[in-house]
Amino acid sequence: MANQTHQEAAVATLRLRRGEDRRLRAGHLWVYSNEVDTARTPLKGLEPGAPVLVLDHRGGVVGAGYANPRSLICARLVSHGRRLLDRRLLVERLRRALALRERLFPAPSYRLAFGEGDHLPGLVVDRYGETAVVQLTTAGMERMREAVVAALAEVAGVRHVLARNDTAVRALEGLARYVEPWLGEPPPVVLVEEDGAVFEVDPAAGQKTGWFYDQRANRRTAAALARGARVLDVFSYVGGFGIRAALAGAREVRCIDASEAALARLAANAERNGVAARVRAERADAFEALEALAAEGARFDLVILDPPALIKRARDCKAGLAAYRRLNALGMAVTAEGGFLVSCSCSHHLEEEALRRVVREAARTQGRAVQELAAAGQDMDHPVHPAMPETRYLKALFLRVI
Ligand code: SAH
Repeated sequence: MANQTHQEAAVATLRLRRGEDRRLRAGHLWVYSNEVDTARTPLKGLEPGAPVLVLDHRGGVVGAGYANPRSLICARLVSHGRRLLDRRLLVERLRRALALRERLFPAPSYRLAFGEGDHLPGLVVDRYGETAVVQLTTAGMERMREAVVAALAEVAGVRHVLARNDTAVRALEGLARYVEPWLGEPPPVVLVEEDGAVFEVDPAAGQKTGWFYDQRANRRTAAALARGARVLDVFSYVGGFGIRAALAGAREVRCIDASEAALARLAANAERNGVAARVRAERADAFEALEALAAEGARFDLVILDPPALIKRARDCKAGLAAYRRLNALGMAVTAEGGFLVSCSCSHHLEEEALRRVVREAARTQGRAVQELAAAGQDMDHPVHPAMPETRYLKALFLRVI
């Protein structure tokens, strides 16, 4: 007990304004700076990433975590008690995260840790066999980098750890951007297998950590619609949807992406899977390419639209929404009668119902009707925290266009 008091005395506290504990008590993990009673517990002076105990306006404990006075999200909780972030907590949470993935997937390829969704705020880990690719997005997690590497080696037995700390969100925490090997010698190319398809992935220079595990189940659903089809994979990246469609018996697959590097990898992947003769890739702006295809009257039996987040911040909502509208209208225009359209959005600012509205509007302007066959989200290695809508970000609507 004396020990505990001693420990607590060393930890800074943040006292919330009256009522601001409610969301946190309901399970949310973020404290916004305007919720803190800064007259009593100033944020200024706290080191970015410093451990903190969060208290309600009466002084009762709401949770514990780490702070960053430079960020609008000035603290993130790792527990709703007094437990702080340390190596032991990382090991426990990673074990729990690993147990889920081992249950879900036959091979060690998956998102091993999904930040808040796994009660590990600030930590994203994609696993490629013996290689873990890590993204630390907060100063609190950055402080723990050595413990993160040690915990990954201990829990998952990985031999290589690569830090892909080059994401834009790090700027919000005042963190530098860099890519760096932290353990072993991460290989330049790793392989991912999905239902028999094999993909080469470039963890150091590919997008995000090299691969989008979040779409795995949706690629399977799309592939199930692909037999004999003419397929258009828009925003194809290295061919996740398109190559799986080809393997599922698509007659021909046309892929469009703006990235030269992604298309070079796509060509290698098509080759590796023995479908190069039926897969064609084109470097272009997706919107322009779709305009051109629509103008020439091209039609496809399966169209996949998987754009990057077109609404990145709340203030981009209007422009982003217009882009989703245009994209879906064009996608629908090139979908053949009775064909399928898979419309995705990874902007958490665009809720599923809003995407459905976009699709409905597109149908109306194109003089088409749609049947919704399925509404899906991110795969299960990206668990949603039910108290944090922010963790539900990917939407995929499977539509039949008539
Ligand atoms: N469908 C992919 C993931 C897509 S990620 C998969 O299943 O793995 C989004 C892709 O869109 C990236 O590869 C990026 O290069 C591409 N992109 C971004 N803006 C684009 C644009 N305006 N036109 C075409 N491609 C674009």
